[in-house]
Amino acid sequence: MRRTVAKSHTKRCPSGKTRFRDHEAATRALRRTESSNRMVRPARAYECPRCKGWHLTSKAR
Ligand SMILES: [Zn+2]
Repeated sequence: MRRTVAKSHTKRCPSGKTRFRDHEAATRALRRTESSNRMVRPARAYECPRCKGWHLTSKAR
C-alpha cells in the first residue's frame, strides 16, 4: 500500500470531488459549467473542511 505524503497545494480531496484552490477558482469553473451545460442547475462554491479547498455543489446548502 503506497502512501504519498506531499505538501503540495494540489493534493486531492477524500471526497473525490474536483478541488479548487480558492473561491475565485471555484467561481470561474462554476461559470464555465453554467455556460457549457444548460441541463445543470447553477451550483455554488463551498469551502471543504476536509481538504481546505473549494468544491462546487448543486445543492442549496
Ligand atoms: Zn474537499
